[in-house]
Amino acid sequence: MSSLEEAKVRDATDPLKGWRQHFDLPDDVIYLDGNSLGPLPKKAKALMQDAVERQWGHDLIRSWNSNDWIGAPQRIGGKIAALIGAAKDEVIVADSVSVNIFKLLTALARERPDATHIISEAGNFPTDAHVAAGAAEILGLELKLLSRDAIVEAIAEDTAAILLTHVHYKTGIRFDMAGVTAAARGRDVPLIWDLSHSTGAVPLDLPRDGAQYAVGCGYKYLNGGPGAPAFIYVAKDQQEALRSPLQGWMGHKRPFAFEDAYEPASGLDRMLVGTPSILSMLALEAGVDIMAEADMQAIWEKSQALFDYMAGLMAERCPQFQMVSPTDAAERGSHISFVHEHAWPINNALIAHGVIGDFRAPDILRLGLTPLYLGFEDIWRGVDILSGIMDSGEWQKPQYSAAAKVT
Ligand SMILES: *Cc1c(COP(=O)(O)O)cnc(C)c1O
Repeated sequence: MSSLEEAKVRDATDPLKGWRQHFDLPDDVIYLDGNSLGPLPKKAKALMQDAVERQWGHDLIRSWNSNDWIGAPQRIGGKIAALIGAAKDEVIVADSVSVNIFKLLTALARERPDATHIISEAGNFPTDAHVAAGAAEILGLELKLLSRDAIVEAIAEDTAAILLTHVHYKTGIRFDMAGVTAAARGRDVPLIWDLSHSTGAVPLDLPRDGAQYAVGCGYKYLNGGPGAPAFIYVAKDQQEALRSPLQGWMGHKRPFAFEDAYEPASGLDRMLVGTPSILSMLALEAGVDIMAEADMQAIWEKSQALFDYMAGLMAERCPQFQMVSPTDAAERGSHISFVHEHAWPINNALIAHGVIGDFRAPDILRLGLTPLYLGFEDIWRGVDILSGIMDSGEWQKPQYSAAAKVT
């Protein structure tokens, strides 16, 4: 039987244990949802206060220069670049993941006039499929949503572009980035990787894997705050060919010349659209700074240890849950998912006990394993509470089935 003492011993020797103090986590919560909304970095609090009171309140419009607001998309992009193996000028922060998918997918597909379709995965995160469908309609293309095993062989000369999410948001199953990218590039088809559940979760080296295009999320493993801006990655040698479908003034070569005619800025600056959300950008920067300092290899090793620990504990104490995330670490991200037909009320009961994970329809309990602020004791306590909820049948109380579905 696994014991709480054993978990405490593992925490005591954890090389990452010091990082938790950089986050403002409530004492009465076990937070297993950092893959959906990362917690508040203490540094973000201080930075937001400075951004509001001094930068906005006192320095006013001068801050665009004196506090380098104007350089935030490139500056923070450069820091994210280091997390994905890219060069500083290969990443820019802008808009949301959804908007960035639209810009990048349309920019790439429109360059292939003889193409007939876009490929994405059936069961991908909904926004990816919805945005791809909208882009396809505008471009007169078909959107093929295929099952995972059918994707590689479907890539053809007349494929306009491919959009794939690297780590699946429900199951955590990870694509072989190098292998699938090679298949796409072998047929000269541009492939966009959605890194929403990958950046800050698993080690990434996009140039090594041949990846040329990606988008990613700021508020999940990067702890950038609710609705944090997202990012776009484009390999240097592909940037000058990009024509964004959203030609905004911030992507103009000379935004402050106020010209009638649009001329794209050089490099990735052309993917900017309108004025960036500076307060959100600065909150994101605090989160990114933490990830930039932490050792990604150590994070990934602990993620694997937490995963194995939780999988073992669940098999021992909550065998009625079926794990659907891959046991092979190379094939997954940093969350662990279990199927149970009553996952919805069970998750609500967990939340009532301070164990915050999430439910993904129709039957998945999804738990984020975020090594910078979670320890083995958290996992032990979380599973202990879940086991209590199952044994007592507490999850069957009517209020847990009735609770409003907010997320
Ligand atoms: C979280 C997530 C998004 C988020 O898109 P937003 O535009 O930021 O709401 C997109 N795609 C995937 C795969 C995600 O996991």
